[in-house]
Amino acid sequence: MIKSEEEWKKELTPEQYHILREKGTEAPGTGEYYHNKEQGSYLCAACGNELFSSEKKYDSGSGWPSFWAPEKSENIDAAVDESLGMRRVEVMCSRCGSHLGHVFDDGPKESGKRFCVNSASLKFKKKE
Ligand code: FE
Repeated sequence: MIKSEEEWKKELTPEQYHILREKGTEAPGTGEYYHNKEQGSYLCAACGNELFSSEKKYDSGSGWPSFWAPEKSENIDAAVDESLGMRRVEVMCSRCGSHLGHVFDDGPKESGKRFCVNSASLKFKKKE
């Protein structure tokens, strides 16, 4: 799913565009889903791809929505990110390539992984 940056710019808010398309990061503790405990699915804010579920969300204390696994691993792409003088693993939506956040190896016992994701990269769909 390839859209031009001009198209993304029209469809997304400036904050979403910065985070999703320019690999930005929202300030910790400010995102709308950090404290969300409702049951449902977290979709890619850009393309609607199903990325995460409330069942694998946990409170990491980091300031960003955190999940110990994606809903469908094939919907997430990972790449080494060496920006800001750190070596991290970036995670992206596999359908549209938008930036979601990073995955770290300090997650809870279920997987040992912590998918640290910007709220602005997600759209929550409440379970009906
Ligand atoms: Fe997407």
